[in-house]
Amino acid sequence: MKVAVLSGGVGGARFVRGVVDVAGEHAVTVIGNVGDDVEVLGMHVSPDLDSILYVLAGLNDQERGWGRAGETWNALDVVRELGGADWFALGDRDPRPPPVRTQALRAGEPLSAVTARLAASLGVETRLLPATDDRLRTWLDTPAGSFPFQEWFVARGHRDEVDAVRFEGADAARPAPGTLGALAEADLILFAPSNPYVSIGPILAVRELREALAARRVPCVAVSPLIAGRAVKGPADRMLRRLAGGTSPSHVAGCYAGLVDALVVDEADAEDLDGLGDVRPVVTRTLMRDADARRRLAEVALGAVPA
Ligand code: GDP
Ligand code: CA
Repeated sequence: MKVAVLSGGVGGARFVRGVVDVAGEHAVTVIGNVGDDVEVLGMHVSPDLDSILYVLAGLNDQERGWGRAGETWNALDVVRELGGADWFALGDRDPRPPPVRTQALRAGEPLSAVTARLAASLGVETRLLPATDDRLRTWLDTPAGSFPFQEWFVARGHRDEVDAVRFEGADAARPAPGTLGALAEADLILFAPSNPYVSIGPILAVRELREALAARRVPCVAVSPLIAGRAVKGPADRMLRRLAGGTSPSHVAGCYAGLVDALVVDEADAEDLDGLGDVRPVVTRTLMRDADARRRLAEVALGAVPA
């Protein structure tokens, strides 16, 4: 069985780990979000791709929930001491992919090729592809103005309500090599319980990827990022309330209209399954508190629609 998973960063990576544990590392291709990518201190950072890499390599910090285990912040202290931009928490071990990645990108290597190399050097066998090699950046329109993703999310602590999400560069962005093939070859497509607007949205903004998903001949199953109508972490619930008008399973499914056949929802949201239309609800416990819970959720998602 071949599986393609669309994923954002930390929340998505946890789910991807479960899917890889259940389906096998060679059965899975991950298509990752690059709308969060940012240039910090002259370096190209791909936070979502790195979150997935660290989790698949077993290098992620479990307690903090993001970044690498055993991280130190000496370089950032020096940046601060020198009055440099210290708003983006780049750890001493974290920048290892950025300088390597930045140098390769400047030399003309596509992001997909650099990502494959980083994955191989970390011992990750699962294929991880950026949605696109082209420049695609998420912007948020808010009452306080328009901000690039990381400025809104990190520097402003995603406190501004979001009126609209835009994807700079999406019109011209081509799918990265391997992504269309992975979708065409997959027996099953999964959307991780990532933020629909700012993690899965930028992937769907690549026109040919969206068209391939709309024309799929295999089931596509999304997992809701909400439990009892609330995000486990981050702004997904606030965004859904303001942009979709609510936080029920049908509001989540509405973000993926025409693209998914089933939505895995938490038991805590099972009371309100109206308005799902053709999308089949699959109710289970969705909190990935540990490896077992991750695997159980992956098993449910993998078995949600009879192949
Ligand atoms: P980011 O790119 O690091 O922000 O991560 P993602 O977009 O991939 O994931 C963030 C989303 O994951 C949030 O909306 C959370 O509500 C959701 N999430 C995190 N952990 C869990 C979990 O254990 N279960 C479910 N259902 N959703 C989760
Ligand atoms: Ca992200």
